[in-house]
Amino acid sequence: MERLESQDRAFSAAQSGRSRKQDLWQTVLQQLDQVAARLELDPGIHAILRHPERELTVSVPVQMDDGSVRVFTGYRIQHSSARGPCKGGIRYHPDVDYDEVKALAALMTLKCAVVGIPYGGAKGGVQCDPRQLSRGELCHMTRAYTAKILPIIGPQRDIPAPDVNTDAQIMAWISDTVSKLENRIALDVVTGKPISMGGSLGRKEATGRGIAIVTRELLQHVGQDLGTTSVAVQGYGNVGSAAATILSEMGCTIAAVSDVSGGLYCPDGLDIAALNQHVARHREHLIEGYTAPGVRSISNKELLVSDVDVLIPAALEHQIRADNAPHVQARYVVEAANGPTTCQADDILAQRGIIVVPDILANAGGVVTSYLEWVQDLQCLFWQECEVNQRLERTMVRSFDEVWRLSQTHHEPMRLAAYMMAVERVAEAIQLRGIFP
Ligand code: NAD
Repeated sequence: MERLESQDRAFSAAQSGRSRKQDLWQTVLQQLDQVAARLELDPGIHAILRHPERELTVSVPVQMDDGSVRVFTGYRIQHSSARGPCKGGIRYHPDVDYDEVKALAALMTLKCAVVGIPYGGAKGGVQCDPRQLSRGELCHMTRAYTAKILPIIGPQRDIPAPDVNTDAQIMAWISDTVSKLENRIALDVVTGKPISMGGSLGRKEATGRGIAIVTRELLQHVGQDLGTTSVAVQGYGNVGSAAATILSEMGCTIAAVSDVSGGLYCPDGLDIAALNQHVARHREHLIEGYTAPGVRSISNKELLVSDVDVLIPAALEHQIRADNAPHVQARYVVEAANGPTTCQADDILAQRGIIVVPDILANAGGVVTSYLEWVQDLQCLFWQECEVNQRLERTMVRSFDEVWRLSQTHHEPMRLAAYMMAVERVAEAIQLRGIFP
């Protein structure tokens, strides 16, 4: 009976994961169609943008520590190379599948265009639960996956980077695998690498720093003081924790945070430095077990509707949906995750006057600094951290300002404005290239 119940739970989790990802691709298409209509986009270019350029599915056999062989499924999907080499992260997660990777690849095309860096969009992933793998198994899986996608990646073709559950160590294994297979030192094949292997100073915190910069810009544009602003962050991983840390340094009150283990709420503000120390010591880098006076546990559901000024979803897609959007109390949503808001939820938030800074603008700090890392690798000349951060700051401030002005001029939400800007830029490149042959 217990087994059946747990199978039921597993089944319904798989079902909800599946529909979430199919929805994400549908969400991207709907948003693309809406923008195409708004821009009166050439139908040929619209059709091109609805289809990824190249899709690769690979099987990844791994010899496990107990001697058995497990075969994982991996993907690398290149949505568009019209504006430059494809760029996008690699995700390790049980829910990774073809539709999710396809949607995330398309979002990368738009993201690179909206911040004006010369890249197209791609995404990759392996369907696995990295928490169930030993370090050795993770290394073998990464190297096998890299060898399988190698024919389509490369510094002038497609440059992967970290995403959910992948980090600098995994990028180091990818770079080393390519170095061994190509008999060269392949620093330029991947970004988000460790500093000692051609990584860029500032890359690790870059997405979170970008989130903090656009939040600060938004608050300035609406005339709200950082010192009186409270923030809730869903997801306390690479992006969420860096965003919370930098926003707290800027003077904001971080009233709530959460991760897979649950949430914490303290209306007077969490002690982020103490929380970061706890997370660094935790075996799985979770907020689980953190206690302090005035801090109470909340669920992830509660976090999304908590009484704060700014909500930052920094976990997975489709967390803000038609069922919880009417109850969101924040006046501003800054999308750190990719695709955290469904189309229906987006409409509800807009009707309620809640301003959403869309993912393709808000979380672009990571890809901007990845671009800076690639530039440093190609020229073999490395910058100081302050120089990297200044370039990131300039790009994010300029991009925020451009999208904000377009949104104000056309009286449209920031998401539509960002999509309009991005699609126009990609369309121009496709037009200039012409249709091959
Ligand atoms: P990560 O693996 O470091 O962190 C993910 C966090 O989300 C973890 O704290 C995890 O516990 C938490 N989480 C997972 N499911 C959750 C749930 N249901 N409720 C609450 N928390 C949950 O990943 P990351 O690199 O921080 O990426 C987070 C998001 O940001 C993803 O959507 C990713 O695509 C996006 N993003 C990342 C980067 C980057 O540079 N890493 C760049 C752009 C966008």
